[in-house]
Amino acid sequence: MSVWAVLAAAGRGERLGSDRPKAFAKLRERPLLAESLERLEASDWIDEIVIVAPPGWEEPSILVAEELGCAKVSACVGGGETRAESVRAGVAEVGGDAAVIVVHDAARPVLPDEVIGRVLTALNEGWDGAVPALPLADTVKRVRGGQIVETLPRDELVAVQTPQAFLAPVLRDAVAGELAGATDCASLVEARGGRVTTVPGDSRLVKVTDAADLEFVASLL
Ligand code: C5P
Repeated sequence: MSVWAVLAAAGRGERLGSDRPKAFAKLRERPLLAESLERLEASDWIDEIVIVAPPGWEEPSILVAEELGCAKVSACVGGGETRAESVRAGVAEVGGDAAVIVVHDAARPVLPDEVIGRVLTALNEGWDGAVPALPLADTVKRVRGGQIVETLPRDELVAVQTPQAFLAPVLRDAVAGELAGATDCASLVEARGGRVTTVPGDSRLVKVTDAADLEFVASLL
């Protein structure tokens, strides 16, 4: 039984203002995708990798994997319109031997190996899924039509990152269902009654959204 990683890299990344998808934006002269791919390849926790590439960028993605000498990449598939659809396409390529599927955003290039260890350890403790989370520094409010209607209790709130790990049958079941509105995999599993826990996240797992994020992430390397 093995641990498969699905690397979600199919986003358009329009806010980066580049002529190429976000996974191919340059991070220290390499495509953004290379950083997380290299880290998954090097991780002793991960056995096989599926890359979900921007549609039409499957070949260049395979080339990145080849240049890095990745031996764990089993498949590279084009993504969908939404992140959840991309994950569904990636999960469809995961082998029947998978006990666990770890889903990671290529947009979070600085992937510390210990975070992979933390989510997998939580699964060993009997959870269906585990996600890295950080406490919120800011107060969070619900706003409708310009007016604050609710202030949420901050001590119950966390900001959730990837890598997110799930028992393979649980994630397969979750992505077979309704995907609309899902911004992460855990929400799909939660919606079907799955038991998902949080483990300590890592501030280096910031998500690259704009050019300033790219500069910040480069400073972490
Ligand atoms: O768009 P967002 O920043 O939330 O994307 C998070 C991750 O999901 C990124 O790594 C992106 O490449 C991926 N994604 C995807 N397919 C999409 C949209 C986003 O694989 N259609």
